[in-house]
Amino acid sequence: MKFGGTSMAGSDRIRRVANIVRRQQAAGHEVAVVVSAMAGETDRLVNFCREANPLYDPAEYDVVVASGEQVTSGLLAMTLQALGCQARSWLGWQLPVRTDDAHAKARIEGIDSEALLASMAAGEIAVIPGFQGLTEGGRVTTLGRGGSDTSAVAVAAAIGADRCDIYTDVDGVYTTDPRIVAKARKLKFVTYEEMLELASVGSKVLQTRSVSLAMKEGVRVQVLSSFIDDDATPADEIPGTMIVSDEELEGLDMERQLITGIAADKNEAKIILTRVPDRPGAVATIFGPLAAANINVDMIIQNVGRDKGETDVTFTVPSSDLLRAQTLLEAQKQAIGYNRIITDGKVAKISVVGVGMKSHAGVAATMFRAMADRGINIQAISTSEIKVSVLIDEDETELAVRVLHTAYGMDAE
Ligand code: ADP
Ligand code: ASP
Ligand code: MG
Repeated sequence: MKFGGTSMAGSDRIRRVANIVRRQQAAGHEVAVVVSAMAGETDRLVNFCREANPLYDPAEYDVVVASGEQVTSGLLAMTLQALGCQARSWLGWQLPVRTDDAHAKARIEGIDSEALLASMAAGEIAVIPGFQGLTEGGRVTTLGRGGSDTSAVAVAAAIGADRCDIYTDVDGVYTTDPRIVAKARKLKFVTYEEMLELASVGSKVLQTRSVSLAMKEGVRVQVLSSFIDDDATPADEIPGTMIVSDEELEGLDMERQLITGIAADKNEAKIILTRVPDRPGAVATIFGPLAAANINVDMIIQNVGRDKGETDVTFTVPSSDLLRAQTLLEAQKQAIGYNRIITDGKVAKISVVGVGMKSHAGVAATMFRAMADRGINIQAISTSEIKVSVLIDEDETELAVRVLHTAYGMDAE
């Protein structure tokens, strides 16, 4: 069972969580619980890091931001004890959750589960802070924002759990963020592939890595609400959204929709390098250093060559890496040979995702038409087999998502 930040925000909510956990145990399950920091806490800690040093050392950032989950795991263990349950916390370094040393976005390499399983078998509820791990050298790491989902799936895989229930502040996965579009529809099932694509383009209901890990390890994941009464449908009866394989969905005989969902991501920033020499190797000199600095590049456009053998290169990076990327590229100005660097942090990426588009033409055309009709300008486009993404002005995010939800006929009655 995993509980997110809103579910853990304050003593009353932690008590509600403890009750949900206790009920699962009473239903005969052995339970491990993964928790997030209280809502807003990680943001607060990130801000302190930025104030301390805008170009902060990611290893020290991890020391700071991992602390939020330490607090909530201890509090939940205490609250469970107050309800008469046996419970104990297991910090990332105690299990340990072994990760690589890519600080601030570390990958889990393994979790030692022997002691954990023994304690659970003895009737103890295990409470594990999400988001945190430990490098081989013994330094604290974190798994990237939203990383507690990945912690939960990794723990579920390590202990061979029957199911990984991700409790959050909505009652499942919707066709789009239900906080943006009131007419969003709840999905009973989503395939791993679709969820993976949706998460990677901004449906932050699940962290992307948690979905790829669940797919790889075959973990059964349900997304459901923690804001429920005692008489709510039990988790075992799947009141939320179940992530399933393609084959499983086919067996359910569901009618496949053309588009599964729409996602928005405001955490991207655009960088334009003007008048880059149009010759072999030029682009490599831009993206090589960024890769070496562990900065993920997403959309890339190399505009048609201008005269004089020059070209503009436009691409996006995570907003949190913009300053580092810019600093790096400025240092490489001579080597790359560009003229100007232009950055824009106020952009958003809007994506439509659906397996159905593999076999249907016109999905992108519908998107461009709907946006044009509302005067929304498209700054960049990228596509994959089951996704079309466009980059737009951040101020138009909500409008664009709503317009597209309607254009694809996805609005609920
Ligand atoms: P938690 O703190 O529990 O991890 P998050 O805030 O990370 O919760 O994720 C839950 C939020 O994800 C919801 O409140 C909702 O606004 C947002 N969200 C975005 N896209 C979707 C979607 N397609 N379906 C459901 N929720 C979504
Ligand atoms: N607390 C971390 C964050 O806010 C991890 C998580 O909640 O999943 O990103
Ligand atoms: Mg989350």
